[in-house]
Amino acid sequence: MQTNGLASAKKIVTGEDYVNSLRNREITLYLFGEKISELVDHPMIRPSINAVAETYDLALREPELASVISPFTGERISRFLHVCTDVKDLVHQNKMQRKLGQLTGTCFQRCVGMDAFNALYSVTYEIDEARDTSYHKRLKSFITLTHRYNYVIGGAMTDVKGDRRLPPHQQADPDLYVHISKRTDDGVYITGAKAHQTGCLNSHWLLVMPTTRLGIEDKEYAIVGAIPVETKGITYIYGRQSCDTRSMEGGTLDVGNAQFGGQEAMIIFDNVFIPNEYIFMDGETEFASMLVERFTSYHRRSYVCKSGVGDVLIGAAATVAEYNGVPRASHIKDKLVEMTHLNETVYATGIASSYQGFATRSGAFICDDMLANVCKHHVTKMPYEISRLAQDLAGGLVVTMPSEKDLNHPEIGALLKKYLKAKEDVNTEDRMRILRLIENMTLGRNAVGYLTESLHGAGSPQAQRIQIGRQMQLEYKKRLAKILAGIDIEEKDSTAEEVAGYFARVFEM
Ligand code: SF4
Ligand code: FE
Repeated sequence: MQTNGLASAKKIVTGEDYVNSLRNREITLYLFGEKISELVDHPMIRPSINAVAETYDLALREPELASVISPFTGERISRFLHVCTDVKDLVHQNKMQRKLGQLTGTCFQRCVGMDAFNALYSVTYEIDEARDTSYHKRLKSFITLTHRYNYVIGGAMTDVKGDRRLPPHQQADPDLYVHISKRTDDGVYITGAKAHQTGCLNSHWLLVMPTTRLGIEDKEYAIVGAIPVETKGITYIYGRQSCDTRSMEGGTLDVGNAQFGGQEAMIIFDNVFIPNEYIFMDGETEFASMLVERFTSYHRRSYVCKSGVGDVLIGAAATVAEYNGVPRASHIKDKLVEMTHLNETVYATGIASSYQGFATRSGAFICDDMLANVCKHHVTKMPYEISRLAQDLAGGLVVTMPSEKDLNHPEIGALLKKYLKAKEDVNTEDRMRILRLIENMTLGRNAVGYLTESLHGAGSPQAQRIQIGRQMQLEYKKRLAKILAGIDIEEKDSTAEEVAGYFARVFEM
């Protein structure tokens, strides 16, 4: 059986199987300037592994929601590895993402791989049609391999980018975008770096993809390939998170969410080999923008994950209000309503994008791009306002509270229990725990996922505004206005194509 050097040759089924599958890998990983030989038991890394493990356990508890029968192996596998073949599949992805956000209160890291599989499925099909290549067949074989073992796939897209004004081939240092550094008959070698790579170390394979549209002179940058995470020549440098060292202090209170966290790292490729069978694009620069756009379309609607995380934060804010004895105060209720309204707006636009999905030529279904961009654009703003309201309801104690060690101290512990008491029947430690959770999600480790990743992940706000601008069909809308205003319409006011496009997007599914 092919294992590609991975520690586990067995199909991964449970969360525990998954955690064990990550053990004993030879990975070059640095954290705090030190090499980490075993990441699984590292207290700073483990919460991120637990979040991915939860995706496996959810698939066992709720198979309809979080798993599918693989069309390639006939066995039950994670929904994160599935290529959507109808609208229901797209919608189920969003429902699963909301649920996992609720269960973990953080980023569970698997959507990049899922969205990359879906985007690549249709793009490789269309490259083969145009260029008579065999990328689609190769991709299907690779997807089958991942289904056989039920692997986690990480998507590696974001290059470090250097001078933002210049295309890849004009950068002073050619390595600022990942590119082919050497070719042999058996495959290619790549060099460069990918930044902010969500869950990369918790994956079994990485899918390396270009990050931007490419011109003809960027040919050596138009490379898509799959690489086992532990491949020789890769160095990982772990990203710090706000308050991350609290997980090294022992205890479970000050961390806010002791069980779950996200993960980002920088990946540096130094002449890393990709064999031909795992190459899914090589030099087809004109398809790079199609890949980036399809991937971001899937991924921007995947940000409904934040509505699940938002559910937890709303619950935490409501709990604080209850502990403080004011759950029914009208302004508190109103703030909770506002938080819910914002949170459901994120979910509504994401899931609407999925419901408006349609078939690509490959048979894979893709979501509506306009609504996906609107969803992600909401996500760049609304979690910030929800967080502000949560901190408003929490009060200043969320940032001034003493530590768990003080609470358990033989002399001052009793004083804290007395003076941090809120409602008579509420345990002081419970009050501290819910405040620490709010701190964790709005200022601490999980604010990385809930706030700043919401801002920049899957493209910063301007990237969505560009896509929204491209698709806003102003000529068509001007025509609507002019008709009602009684202004004579000249044919050039609206192209037939634009009108047809509008109707196709809005009224057909
Ligand atoms: Fe998935 Fe959300 Fe994390 Fe992205 S931020 S990987 S969409 S959970
Ligand atoms: Fe992300």
